[in-house]
Amino acid sequence: MANIKEMNFIKDKIKICEKCSLHLSRNNTVPGEGNINSKIVFVGEGPGADEDSSGRPFVGRAGKLLDVMFKDWAKIDRNQIFITNIVKCRPPKNRVPSDEEMNSCGHFLEAQLIQIKPKIIVTLGSTSMKYLTNKTKITESRGKFYDWYSGIKIFPTFHPSYLLRNPSMQKGTPRWYSWLDMRAIGIMIKALNNDKNVEDIVKAVTKIMKDSGGI
Ligand code: SF4
Repeated sequence: MANIKEMNFIKDKIKICEKCSLHLSRNNTVPGEGNINSKIVFVGEGPGADEDSSGRPFVGRAGKLLDVMFKDWAKIDRNQIFITNIVKCRPPKNRVPSDEEMNSCGHFLEAQLIQIKPKIIVTLGSTSMKYLTNKTKITESRGKFYDWYSGIKIFPTFHPSYLLRNPSMQKGTPRWYSWLDMRAIGIMIKALNNDKNVEDIVKAVTKIMKDSGGI
């Protein structure tokens, strides 16, 4: 079980952090939110304008689509999982955070993950995938599992903002692959909540993804 005091301590540290230049233009820090005992954590790259205004992750247009992806594709409640980003302050004009900024901020994500102890990390988009796995091509790497520390698996999928620019749901499109990924994530959450072994889940989900043409 995550220690709520420790999680609040991390949040307070983020709030006053001035370790990189992103603090100069932020209105609010965006530490992340959700179930701190979730067995799956979602990690995006950084907050956008709506998130910077509200202090909450994934509340803008991309966040609205993510809500649909949770509810209709994965068949899960967003409150079941924890969701955060690599950097906790908005990069100006929504640019991709620099390596220096991600390296400055990464220890907060690590501290959150040490508390939450997820079994699986879902990376949203290529920036967080690259940061955590060193993989560079999301079209090749999504929908598959990668080993991280302490037996934790990483499962990359597309960022919802990329899907907003690619609205087709036809077979073979990013949205179609994303739908398969989210359906798989729904299966993973149910299995993890039933205390199934993560290696068995990886095997079962990989088979489902292969059989459905997802990988
Ligand atoms: S992005 Fe992270 S490291 Fe940079 S100021 Fe914000 S909290 Fe600190």
